[in-house]
Amino acid sequence: MSTKNTVRIMCPSLTCRTVLAVPESARGKTVRCKACGVTVLIPQAATTAADPNKKAG
Ligand SMILES: [Zn+2]
Repeated sequence: MSTKNTVRIMCPSLTCRTVLAVPESARGKTVRCKACGVTVLIPQAATTAADPNKKAG
């Protein structure tokens, strides 16, 4: 197990939509998309996008 989790967030830019992988330490901070250069705010909670596709049991 790795104690260092990674937060994945999608770039808000509609023309970019690159999935950014940042460490949890970046929560509450802003990172810059390496693809388009837009500033993305990393949310505190891991509820960035509510996926309608739940795990099918
Ligand atoms: Zn981007």
